[in-house]
Amino acid sequence: MIIPVPATSSSACKQDMPLINFQKGLNKMESLFHNRNKDKVVVIMGATGTGKTKLAIDLAKHFQPAEIVNSDKMQIYKGLDITTNKVTEKECDGVPHHLLGVFDPNSNFTANDFCYHACSAIDSIVEKDGLPIIAGGSNSYLDALVNHCSEFRLRYECCFLWVDVLPPVLHSSLQSRVDRMIEAGQLDEVREFFDPLSDYTKGIRRAIGVPEFHDFLIAEANSADERTKKRLLEDAIARLKINNCTLANRQVQKIRRLNGMWKRSMYRLDATETHLKRGSYASKESWEDNVLAKSLVILYNFLYGETRIRSRMSAMVQKRRQVYLLVKHF
Ligand code: ATP
Repeated sequence: MIIPVPATSSSACKQDMPLINFQKGLNKMESLFHNRNKDKVVVIMGATGTGKTKLAIDLAKHFQPAEIVNSDKMQIYKGLDITTNKVTEKECDGVPHHLLGVFDPNSNFTANDFCYHACSAIDSIVEKDGLPIIAGGSNSYLDALVNHCSEFRLRYECCFLWVDVLPPVLHSSLQSRVDRMIEAGQLDEVREFFDPLSDYTKGIRRAIGVPEFHDFLIAEANSADERTKKRLLEDAIARLKINNCTLANRQVQKIRRLNGMWKRSMYRLDATETHLKRGSYASKESWEDNVLAKSLVILYNFLYGETRIRSRMSAMVQKRRQVYLLVKHF
C-alpha cells in the first residue's frame, strides 16, 4: 500500500486543512447531503484543460462544507506542480483538497491504491458532514472506484458532471496552456527533476512534459551547440502540444464509454463558449451561465430533490420581492 509522503509543495494547496466557513446552524435534520440511504458524492469529469478544477472549487464554495478529492493520476504525486498543472493554493481559495501532491513521485500509484485512499478521504469528509467532490481526468481511477470498489458502491451515490469543450477549441486552449506553462518555468522544473537514466514508465515521470524534454536535456548536459538545443527545445514543445491534444481525445473517448454506463446520472456541460471567449469578461459570464448555473441546478436536484429546489426557489423569489419593496419604499 502506498503511503503519502509529507507535503512540502509550495504551489499545490494544503491537504486536509480544517474546514473553513463551516456553515454553522445546520442541525442533523439539515445535514442535507447525508439524509438518504446512500451518501452523495459529486464527480467532475472532463478532458485535460476543460475547467474541472475551477468547477470543483466553485461548487465546493457553494455547497459548503465541501472538500475535493483529486482523481488525476499525475497530480497525485508530489512535485512537478507546473508540469502536472496542479491547482495553486490561491486557486484553492480555502477549499480543502485530498490526494493532491502527496505520494512519492517514484512510486507506482495504482487504481487500487486510488480506491483505498479515495474511499478513506471520502469517509472522512462525510463524517464531518461535508460534501465530497471528486475531480480529475483519470477515468481509469473513476472506473475502478465507481464500478469495481464494492465498499464505495454500497455506501455512495454519485452525480457525474462532464465538462466538455469541442475538440478544435480545446486543442487551441491546450496549445496556449503549454506556452503559459513554459513561461511559468516548466523547463526549469523538469530540469531539476531530470535523471538521464530515469524510467519514463514509472510514477510521475510518465507525465506529459517529462519524457518530451529528454533529448533536449541530454543535449544541454553534453554542452551541445545553441542551434541544436534550440531545435530540440522547439521539437519538445511541439510534441508537448500534440501529446496534450492526443490525451484530451483519449480522455473524451473514455468518458463517452463511461457515459454509456452512467448516463442516468451523468450530465454534459458545454464550456466551448467559455474557452472561445477566453481572457474576456464574456468568458466569465459564459462560465457562470453555461457551466456553473447548470451544475447548480443539477446538484440542487441531486442533493435536495425537487421539493427542496422549489422551496429554495420560492425563498429566493420572496427575498427578491422584499428587496424590491425596500427599494421602492426609499
Ligand atoms: P490510461 O489508462 O491511459 O492511463 P487514465 O484515465 O487512467 O488512462 P489519464 O489521466 O488519462 O489516465 O492519464 C493518461 C496519461 O496521460 C498519464 O499516464 C500521463 O502520461 C498523462 N497525464 C495525465 N494527467 C496528466 C497531468 N496532470 N500532467 C501530465 N500528464 C498527465
